Amino acid sequence: MILNCNLCGTPLADKLYDSGSAKSLTSLCTAHEGRTQVYVCQSCAHVQSIAMDNIDAYYDDSYDILVDSEEEDQIYEVVAGQMVYRTEHQVRVLRDKVTLASGMKILDYGCAKSATMRTLSRQIPGLEVHLFDVSDRYRPFWDKFIPAERGATFELPADWQGRFDVVTSFFSLEHMAQPQDALGKIAALLKTGGTFYGIVPNVLSNTADLIVVDHVNHFTPPSLAYLLRANGFEVQEISDSAHRGALVFIARKLAQPAAAQPPAQTEVHAIAQTARQIADFWQQAGARVQAFEQTLAADVPVALYGAGFYGAFIVSWLRQPQRIRCIIDQNAFLQGRQLHGVPVIAPADLPTDITTLLVGLNPAHAHQIVGDIPAFAGRSLNCFYL
Ligand SMILES: [Zn+2]
Repeated sequence: MILNCNLCGTPLADKLYDSGSAKSLTSLCTAHEGRTQVYVCQSCAHVQSIAMDNIDAYYDDSYDILVDSEEEDQIYEVVAGQMVYRTEHQVRVLRDKVTLASGMKILDYGCAKSATMRTLSRQIPGLEVHLFDVSDRYRPFWDKFIPAERGATFELPADWQGRFDVVTSFFSLEHMAQPQDALGKIAALLKTGGTFYGIVPNVLSNTADLIVVDHVNHFTPPSLAYLLRANGFEVQEISDSAHRGALVFIARKLAQPAAAQPPAQTEVHAIAQTARQIADFWQQAGARVQAFEQTLAADVPVALYGAGFYGAFIVSWLRQPQRIRCIIDQNAFLQGRQLHGVPVIAPADLPTDITTLLVGLNPAHAHQIVGDIPAFAGRSLNCFYL
């Protein structure tokens, strides 16, 4: 089977990563039986994974992102011991970059619960918030802050065409097997001159994104720009600093779409090389987990730091995952729950008899995060870093 780039159509011949027979992990940190294979496009610098089988059913039935609780949220960062949650940060960045006012029509496309729009509608009374997703499971959340006719699932209402001042997409395009199709629909929903604003993971800084099996698309700045231009947008900004580990983009719908040119080959080659280094890191990381585990006595208990993706990766490679006694995470919403069959606890509650810590955090920030934890100061911990 020939796999083509789903942005520019070029055949993908350059495979970066192959999980082989190892289990894959989803963005929700669950194990998936399928194989993860990742390619880079030598024409537009897009990084692309082979789509999971039954991808539509996966999102409709099993994609339970934060559906347990209304207020549950993910930590964006910890500043001087204070948690900043993702929703709060997303709203702040959106308002910083796009002028929003009462009476404007805004649509969150692929919105899930849309905690972001809920917060925004509280902040800007009169803003006409609309929501769209490919599942009915979030309707009970939407009903609490928008009238029913401003929400749509599966099919876009015909009278939404050309209706919106702003369309947003928060961590959604990376899941779509046909992003060109989605962008065409989004362009049609906007008024001429309207703004498309979104966030996607930045695989070049959030390197775990490369091996997440349900992320078909791993956008790079040039591949994202290409996708936007190919759908009649003028790219106003692609920021790799407004949201950690992500690309924030702002694009304007043009009256007359211009032809999109692929990025310069020198830029494509540089990105392909960086993507290959990330892939090589992951290709070897599992073996490194097992090599560290071999240095431990058979019955040594360990704690895992990090209830997210990196932690799940470590668990998936341990020969004796039952040696994990607890998982440490600073997210208060997770503390007190069970994950991988053990309790999630706050750093201060790490039992004194556990002296080995497997650090399941992004290696770019892991040392600093662990070093900044007051409860670990003065403790002698044998730490493994990815
Ligand atoms: Zn391409």
